[in-house]
Amino acid sequence: MSLASRELSRQDWDSVQCGCGKPARHLVALLESAIDGNAGALRALDGHVFVQSILMAPAPAACAGVVAVMVVALTTVMLLAAGASRWFTPPITA
Ligand SMILES: [Zn+2]
Repeated sequence: MSLASRELSRQDWDSVQCGCGKPARHLVALLESAIDGNAGALRALDGHVFVQSILMAPAPAACAGVVAVMVVALTTVMLLAAGASRWFTPPITA
């Protein structure tokens, strides 16, 4: 399980109302798709996590997953720049 997936699993999606009016749990698959590199999945968050420029209730939980993706990507770039010879997945700490 990646750091981002773990972060997504920590959220109580059922208790948060999505911007579309449904429980926010349906966003998890969309966010996991974004984690897997599907840029279209991020655009699909419009109307759910944000509406135009207005953040909706699931925004903090969604941002936690997005930030985790960025941490992994930045760590990977830094390690490659420092001379690491292969991709590296940082360990997950509890
Ligand atoms: Zn929604």
